[in-house]
Amino acid sequence: MRILLVEDDPMIGKTLSAALAQDGYTVDWIKDGTAARVAIDTADGAYSLVLLDLGLPRKSGLDLLKDIRRAGNKVRVLIVTARDAVADRVAGLDAGADDYLVKPFSLDELGARMRALLRRDIAREDNVIRHGDLALDAGSRSVTRAGTPVDISAREFALLAALLERPGTALSKAQIEERLYGWGEEVESNTVEVHVHNLRKKLGADAIRTIRGVGYVIGK
Ligand code: CA
Repeated sequence: MRILLVEDDPMIGKTLSAALAQDGYTVDWIKDGTAARVAIDTADGAYSLVLLDLGLPRKSGLDLLKDIRRAGNKVRVLIVTARDAVADRVAGLDAGADDYLVKPFSLDELGARMRALLRRDIAREDNVIRHGDLALDAGSRSVTRAGTPVDISAREFALLAALLERPGTALSKAQIEERLYGWGEEVESNTVEVHVHNLRKKLGADAIRTIRGVGYVIGK
């Protein structure tokens, strides 16, 4: 899953980027509010979540949030800030944030709050997405088929999650690449095909269907 991190503090940004990458997320890190607005507007739904600092150069996090909500963008936003006054939290949530976390925080709590927000997209009580005998656990980042653990890479996991979140909806190769890779990451032209090929080998040839000229889909 691809995350936009909007944070001007280099230490915090670096630490969070590394920790999130370790958890298997693809992270784009931006350091000011105006550039973040451009990134969100051009992402075309590729971000599963935005982690938003409030005190930012050029445009404040609160103004950025108000702008994107006014424009109808519903991307999940988790405010991460040192401002801990009740009035700040209320303002953030009223402006359209989905959750609010006060610095300093533990990475464990950040991870849990992110998973809770990402779950909302698929309206599930737990971290597990199921389809037939396939189960994907976003908490432990593991996959089982018919109860048997499947050894899976971080990219394969992200690809499978993207398809399982919207069963029956085909994703194009470009949409999948957007979800799997951050800026500046070299994407070989056949990478998505290779991941799909490997997933079929691990999960069964029928696990992912190709829709010619459209893309890939799980389910009908
Ligand atoms: Ca800041």
